[in-house]
Formats: sequence, structure tokens, C-alpha cells
Amino acid sequence: HTLYIAKDYSAIAVGADEVAFAVEKEAFLRNIPIRIVRTGSYGLYWLEPVIEVELEGGKRIAYGPVTEEAIGSLFDSGFLEGSDHPLCLGNLQEHPYLKKQTRLIFERIGKNDPLSLDSYMAWGGFQGLKKAIELGPDKVIDQITKSGLRGRGGAAFPTGIKWKTTKGAIASQKYIVCNADEGDSGTFSDRMVMEGDPFLLIEGMAIAGFAVGADKGYIYLRSEYPLAHEILNKAIAVCRSQGILGSPLFGSSFSFDLEVFLGAGAYVCGEETALLESLEGKRGMVRPRPPLPAVKGLWGKPTVINNVITLASVPWILSHGGEAYAAYGVNRSKGTLPVQLSGNLKYPGLVEIPFGISLRDLVYGFGGGTRSGRPLKAIQIGGPLGPYLPEHLLDIPLDYEELSKIKGIVGHGGIIAFDDQTNLAHMAHYAMEFCAEESCGKCTPCRIGSTRGMELMEKILMGKGSRKELELLFDLCDTMLHASLCGLGGMTPFPVLSALRHFPEDFGYCKEEIC
Ligand code: SF4
Repeated sequence: HTLYIAKDYSAIAVGADEVAFAVEKEAFLRNIPIRIVRTGSYGLYWLEPVIEVELEGGKRIAYGPVTEEAIGSLFDSGFLEGSDHPLCLGNLQEHPYLKKQTRLIFERIGKNDPLSLDSYMAWGGFQGLKKAIELGPDKVIDQITKSGLRGRGGAAFPTGIKWKTTKGAIASQKYIVCNADEGDSGTFSDRMVMEGDPFLLIEGMAIAGFAVGADKGYIYLRSEYPLAHEILNKAIAVCRSQGILGSPLFGSSFSFDLEVFLGAGAYVCGEETALLESLEGKRGMVRPRPPLPAVKGLWGKPTVINNVITLASVPWILSHGGEAYAAYGVNRSKGTLPVQLSGNLKYPGLVEIPFGISLRDLVYGFGGGTRSGRPLKAIQIGGPLGPYLPEHLLDIPLDYEELSKIKGIVGHGGIIAFDDQTNLAHMAHYAMEFCAEESCGKCTPCRIGSTRGMELMEKILMGKGSRKELELLFDLCDTMLHASLCGLGGMTPFPVLSALRHFPEDFGYCKEEIC
């Protein structure tokens, strides 16, 4: 009997390791031979820990959420033969949460052992890289440009242009840097890819290296992801031993190698120039631009910096063609986005979906509304510095430009939901506090502004805010918005201003005062 249980940090956090151990123990006591394959998670997190049992013919039946206490009754019921136990979820692939998705990046995740190269190959792995080598660097960049892929880390910069710039730069050495410093609250798609399908990221980086002429890559990984660290290092070792990394690739003269670099826990190192400083062994501080990292990046050499999801989208684009990718999505927002649902939602998890779906469909159709059962008050999209969008704005489509019309951002695709008991003034104060804590200190609007902003908001929250404090807060936000050197200081006003605009009563003001 083969069973599949996720070895993914979110699944482990709710007991997947203990469940796997208990299943093994119970099978041993009952003298039943079993094989447990630890996989990535499908991202239906309210159902974890999930056990999938493979039946004859390869069909799988899932059970969840499984507790250690339920193991005995699962065996008694004959779950290894697909029994109708109360925890039976049926075939997960038929579950509407999965069935309604368009999984291009997450196609394999959850189904197999992330470190099995055979399984990766069997599911079409390295076809994108082979195709890239067949096409040659210029045509690879053409395909990426045609796909309309934009940076999924938050900046949404066209990937094709970035690659073209680095390819065109003349230098003896170039680099590919993967930004895996996934620091936004409510985001976990990068982690899921690194833990659940590490070869996909390696393939994406190798394609990028081939396209721009970089033979060396780094994955800048946040230190809070120890499991991803372990899995990535093992995957790199497998690729080296199989001649995929560090040797000429698939009959070409090009070879690529990469290593993982652990960050030290600063949010600002998600900003690409601060990341480069950190990678060079210096304190993570933002560099002024120009020069662009694409021309003068790591150790002064041309460097492509893309985030995990951007690079993980590349193999699919190469093996299916840029136009096939661009057929998904709307307007200038092409392809799919792995949206991460969390906060006060009934069904938190990972939803990979083409752009164009409404936020309402994501929050209610997938997320199932609030877990508390109370009315939804707002969502925050785009990380800790994303704005709060009230319930009545949820009909807006997931689209970079449409969202920016209502002062929203897509960011890294994290959506956090709040019910009507949340005070958004307190949440907005947290944004200022976060900025004060994480500011790299290079520019005044952010370094001083965030601390003064925090003090000002504390005064308002204590009921001591008059018209004067309000004007001062608007003034301060305006300075931070327009004069900060990077997005950390420049975006901190987003939650503050959106909370003030949509929920003035949480600050003790009335609507007219805000206008
Ligand atoms: Fe540093 Fe903040 Fe200025 Fe960014 S905005 S450079 S984090 S001080």
C-alpha cells in the first residue's frame, strides 16, 4: 500500500509528521506493509494533515484532516482499500477547490516526492530547458516577452525586458539571483514551490542563465524556511550528480550551477538591491538606482533578479510557448497567479488561477467567506504594506492595472481577510510599527517618518487626535509616499491611508473630516 502525506511546513505545523509516524506505527503493529511518500502540499490547508491512499489502478482517495487519534479507526474501517470513513474526502483532484484552479506552476506539487528526479522527468520536467537549448538565447527571450510574464515578487516588471537588458550587457560574468526572501505576511507560494517542487525552480533558473549568458546562480532564501533550505540543497546535489548542474546541459556547451544563500531575517532584503548587498556579505541596505541590477548588480556584474514564482513559471512557458501562456489572463496581466488566501477565512490555501478572476470569487468562491461567520469587513492584498480594501470593492478583477485604479496592489498575491470585529486603525498602526522596525535607515522619510507616524497614530488611537494630528498624518504619509528611496517607506502609507479613507470611524473620525 502506498500512502502520500505532505511534508510541507504548513502541514507539519498542524501535525503531518506525527500523523505519518502514527500511521507507520499502526501498520507495523498490524503487520501491514505500507510505503509512505512525503510530498508537497496541495495547499488545501484547512484539510491538512491529509493522507492520500493509492488504490489499485493508481487512483487516490484522500482522508483529512487526520489526527493521531483517528489512525486506529482509519485502519479499522479499511481505509487502505478506500473505505468510507467519516474523514474520507474522496478523490482530491475532483474537489472543487482544486478543480476550479488552473495549475501551471503547481501542477505537480502534492502528487509526488519533491526530490524524485524520475518523477519530475515523468511529469514533463526539464522539457522547458531542453526546448530553450533547442531555440537558443534570443528566441527564449522572445518567448518570455510574448508570454507577458511580469515579476511576481510585487514589482510586476516585464521579465522579458529584464532578461534582454542583462543579455545585452557586455561582461565576463553574469548572475541569476532568485529572490526567495518571501517576507510578506500571508504569503507562502514561494515556500510551497521550494518545498514541493524544487527542480522546477532549478530548471527556471537554468533557463534564465542560458538566455542571458549567466553560468552562476544564487537562491537568496529567508532563514525562516529551514525545510526549503534542506530540500533545495538536496535537489541541487541530485542535479549535480546527474550532470544537470555544473556540467554541459543537454548536449550544449552551456553549463550552469547554483547555490543557496541564507538571509538573516531583514524584510528589506526582499528589495532587490538590499538583497544584493546582503548577498555580497554587507549589511542589507538599499542601493540608489540607476544603475539597474540588470546592468550592474551582484559584485558589479549584470544580474537578473527574479522571484521564485516568476522563475517557476518559465519552464511551462518554454515547453508550451509564450503565446499559450499569454492566452491565460486579461489585459496586461497575463498568465496565472498563485493566490495565497489566509486570515479570517473558512478555506485558507493556495489558489493558482488566471488573472481576471474577481477578488470576490477568490474570497467567497474559494475562501468560503469568514471563518468566524461574521460579516467580512476588508481584505488586505499585497503584503503587510498593501492597502485595505472594503467588502464593497471586491468585484474588482485580479489585474495589476485595474487594482491600481482603486489604489490597490497585487504584490506577491497574498490576500488576508478581516471580519467586522477587526479595528483597522490598529492594523494600520502596525504597518507604521513594522516600517519603523524594518527600515534600513538609509533615507529620512522612512527612518524618521515611520517612528513619528507611529507616535502620531498612537496619539490618535488614544482618542487624543484632533484635526491637527490628522493633517500631520496626511502630510507625513505624503512625504513617505513620494520621497522614500524604496518601497518599504514608500508603501507604508498604503494601509494607513486606505484605513483612514474607508474606515475613519476606527480612528475616531467621521467621513467628512477625512474628505
Ligand atoms: Fe531604507 Fe526605508 Fe529608505 Fe527603503 S525607504 S531605503 S527601507 S530607509
